[in-house]
Amino acid sequence: MNSFFNFYEKVYGERWETLRASLIADAEKHARSCFEGYATYVLDSASIIAADALQVKPGDRVLDLCAAPGGKALVLAEALKGKGSLVANELSSARRMRLKEVMDHHVPPSFRGLIDLVGFDGNQFGLKKPNTFDRVLLDAPCSSERHLLQEDPEQKDWKESRTKQLSMRQYSLLCSALLTLKPGGTLIYSTCSISPLENDGVVSRLLERKGDQVELDSNIDDLLHLERTQCGFQVFPDRSQGAGPIYFSRLIKTKI
Ligand code: SAM
Repeated sequence: MNSFFNFYEKVYGERWETLRASLIADAEKHARSCFEGYATYVLDSASIIAADALQVKPGDRVLDLCAAPGGKALVLAEALKGKGSLVANELSSARRMRLKEVMDHHVPPSFRGLIDLVGFDGNQFGLKKPNTFDRVLLDAPCSSERHLLQEDPEQKDWKESRTKQLSMRQYSLLCSALLTLKPGGTLIYSTCSISPLENDGVVSRLLERKGDQVELDSNIDDLLHLERTQCGFQVFPDRSQGAGPIYFSRLIKTKI
């Protein structure tokens, strides 16, 4: 058996076969109109749950650390209701152009002024802008198994080192996200991965190493299809009529 199937079968046991089939099948998508009269944006309904979990309110100073193509940034911008600010950051210039197109096309000019599109390495925010934002979304680069399997259902070249490396990149971005958050502020770390080395693995490491600065906030309603994990929540397409996968964890910064 190849290492990809071996790895995920060990994690998910008997569930793996149905989960694998659901990842290869078409995703469930939701056309969301964030701003009345403006074009709808098609995104996964599980992505909306993760972005909503940040609980953005009017007046907040919000950072979306890895923002392109921009589906979750639209949900955050909508929640500001015309008051506050959103910094939408994306490292890749090609993806940043896509992010700009999405914002220009889906956000009316009166709201567009609240959104600042920038192109930094997300790892720099912590040191350059400490204790700055009320809410931070880290929707991290991840294993994205659904895309992997849809591109190549065999995954013969996959190695476990891939998910380990991604978990390290995510941990580094998560530390930066925590530093740039104001004390008392809220952080959502999310991925579309189903690898436990990412997801709970990354949050557990943060809690072990920086547990004096951050706490879990798992006080989230038991929405349909939301499965609780050790440190967060997950939506899997085999039990959600095709939505997801998405993982998210909500964290509160307790001190500087
Ligand atoms: N939040 C987006 C949405 O809902 O449309 C999806 C974000 S995608 C999962 C992760 C993004 O992070 C990619 O666009 C990738 O180019 C970007 N990225 C990767 N490393 C980064 C870094 N160090 N700093 C900022 N962005 C980064």
